[in-house]
Formats: sequence, structure tokens, C-alpha cells
Amino acid sequence: MKFAQEFRKSLQQEGFPQKWVNSAVPYGQLKKCLKKVTNELQELGLDKDTLSQLATTPKDPSTVAFHYHLDGKTTDSKHFRPRLTFFIHLKDGVAVDAKLTPTTRDFLKKIVSRTEDISGSLADELGNENSVPASYNLEKPLLSEEESSLIQKIEVPLVFDGEFFDILQTDVSNLDALQEEEQDKLGKEIVLLGRDINMATKPSKGRKARVDLETWREIFELYLDARVFFSTLESDHGARTSSQAVEQLRWFQTQVLSRKLVHSLKLDNSRQAYTRFLSMNALLVQILKFQEINNLAVTKILKKFDKRTSLSVSRAFPVTVRSNHLLAGSVAKDLCAQMSTELISVVPQLDDYLCPICFAVAYWPVRLECQHIFCSRCLVKMSRKGERFCPLCRADVIMRASLENFDSTRAAFLREYFPKEVKEKIRANERERNREIFGPDYSDSPCSVM
Ligand SMILES: [Zn+2]
Ligand SMILES: [Zn+2]
Repeated sequence: MKFAQEFRKSLQQEGFPQKWVNSAVPYGQLKKCLKKVTNELQELGLDKDTLSQLATTPKDPSTVAFHYHLDGKTTDSKHFRPRLTFFIHLKDGVAVDAKLTPTTRDFLKKIVSRTEDISGSLADELGNENSVPASYNLEKPLLSEEESSLIQKIEVPLVFDGEFFDILQTDVSNLDALQEEEQDKLGKEIVLLGRDINMATKPSKGRKARVDLETWREIFELYLDARVFFSTLESDHGARTSSQAVEQLRWFQTQVLSRKLVHSLKLDNSRQAYTRFLSMNALLVQILKFQEINNLAVTKILKKFDKRTSLSVSRAFPVTVRSNHLLAGSVAKDLCAQMSTELISVVPQLDDYLCPICFAVAYWPVRLECQHIFCSRCLVKMSRKGERFCPLCRADVIMRASLENFDSTRAAFLREYFPKEVKEKIRANERERNREIFGPDYSDSPCSVM
């Protein structure tokens, strides 16, 4: 299937909102405009074969070559003004390169006589374009010993290439704006959802809230494991494609189902929030997919441009074009970052509250002067061993710790959000202390001696 058809079909079939479809890359229009560009070039004797031949000419100043700049000097930053500039080796006013077709020679001859006043020299092009007077040394031989030869710089006036790149740039800008809008909307939804889940699962609200908090914790743990849109693993680091994201999402949902997590949600609010969470992810997949196919359309039309004109723009355009979103492909990363700060963090994960020494919940929490937090047990043991330095940052703070370093706010938070883990840790601390007092055979099973 031809790309134009394929593109149209996926725009129709993927269920994108009409507003998106309307601002998709106008591939057909660009193709028509490209035809005008090729016609225009052909009329000047600059068909793709001629241009491609000229493009491969080694950079020997005594032969004809050209530059095609996409970012021609322009005062209006919104508009592209590409410039096709020729460097022509003239002898007695005639272009001497043997590779040129008669039409091209004719054209160049005509244009030389017309543009003598605006042309500069090759040296001028290689140096600073602006610093040399426009009528610089047309008479003086520059690079050849032959008396009447000189290199002349000639700008070829084209119209339709400017039109082509304007259409493309305008569309990329529109798509950028659309993307920003969608990203904003989704971002706000993420914040709202985070707030709702936070409100619903406040442990102080009762048993159901506490049960749901545990369930959400498990759901988000799975979600993080799925790395739906962005992988932080070394093996496949980076943003995922939409089809990879779909696969990861499917894995996540299967896990949630098989653990009956949605069924365990006690509150209506929680169940609704889960549905919202899923549709948010689905929308993000759509955004990604839309970005992908438009990106592909831009790549394809630029390749076509190069194929038809030999002007080699497909590498230059993405650099020159001003696109913060579409071509940058940052949407997945941005939104994922937002999800983890605004949404997933409202359900505290145990991993973030572990003591870095014993890997149990850091209870009682002691915050050292360096701000690192350890459980009181581990600190007592360290100071008994005479260790002075924080194991994380090597600051000389352990011996300076006192009762003041107990973090009572953190302790209350841990009791509220991780009651099971805190109880377990208290028991473990007691067991350990008793073993220290009564010896290694101590067991905390009920005493059987009456
Ligand atoms: Zn510890
Ligand atoms: Zn430290």
C-alpha cells in the first residue's frame, strides 16, 4: 500500500478525535506542492539527476557546486526561506563544468547576467557572507591561473520550495500546539486523580480506606514494574513505542486481574479511580500513536523531497524546524514523570521508607544531621561499633546523634501508612534486643515455665 493511503487509513481507523485528524500532516497537499517544486527546478534545467551529479562533485572550487540552505536569512522567524546557491566557475562568462546539461548552462548564463549585482565571490561564501561588499571583485580571477576565469556565487530564485517548507513548518507547529494542549489536559487529570486517590485512601478514614490503600499500593507497584511508557532498565532504556506500550499495559492489566485487585477495592471512589487511571493510559497511548504516524509522515515526505530533487533536506529539516514536541518525542517521558510525582507518590511505597542498612521499614526513624534516615536499631549498633560516618554520605554525624534526631513526624506517618510493617519491625527489634540480653537461645514464644 502506498504511504499516503496507509496514512489516511490509520488516521481514520485508530479512533483519533476529529480535531486531531484535522491537524494531521497534510501529506497530500505537500505531495502536490512537491510536484510544483520539481517542475520549477526542471524548468531551470535543474532536474534531480543534474543536481545529484553536482552534489557529488568534490569540493574543488574550480568545479560547479551548490548549497541548499533551509534556514535562509529571514526576518520573519515563522517562515522558511530556503536558498539554493550555486558556485559557478565561469570562463568568459560561460559556465565551464562539462557535466552541466545545455539547458542548465543556458539558465546559468542567463542568471549570471541578471544577478551580477548581487553576487559575491566564493571566498566570500567560505568566509563571512556578510562582510564582503556584494559587488566584490567580479572581474578579478580568484582561483585559477587562467586570466578570465572566476567563481561566481549565484542564488537561484525558487518559489515553491518556500511554500513547501512553510506548509510543513506550519503543520509541525500546529501539531506541537495540539500536543501541548493534550499534555496539559492529561497532566491536570493526573493531578486530580492523584488527589482523589489520596483523599479516598487516607488511613484515618477507616478500615475500607486502609484496605484500599494496600490495594492501590500493589496496583502501582505492578504499574511501575510494567514500565509502560518509559523503561529505566539498562537493557531497553528509553521511551517506548506505542505498540510496546500497549503490550506493557496489557501485561499490567492481566496481573491486576489475576490478583483480583480491582475486586479487592472496597470503595466506589477507588474503583472509579481505577477506571479513570486506565483510560488515562489509553489516551496516552493514543497521543503516542498519533505522534508516531505524523512523525513518519514528515520523514516520508522529506525523503520524497530528496528523491525528487536531490537537495538533501531530510537530515537538515528536523534540525532547522522548530518543534518542541512532535519531533522531540518527549511526551511519554514528561507524562510518566508527572505520573510518578503526582499520582503514584500519593500512595507511599515501602521501598521509599526502608532503612538502607537492614532493609526493613526505618522505624524508629532517626534522621541524622546529613538528613539520611536509619532505623534506631541500626544506629545503636553502628555507634556501639564506634562507627562515626554516615554509610550513605560519609559525613561525620553518627556520634553526634541524640534523642533530638528521632523524627517523630516520620514515625507518625509510618505508623499511619505502614502499620503492618511497623508492628513487624517493632517485634523484630524487641527480639533482637532480647537476644542481646538473654543470649542467642532466646525465643520470644510464650514462656512455658510456670
Ligand atoms: Zn535498620
Ligand atoms: Zn548521610
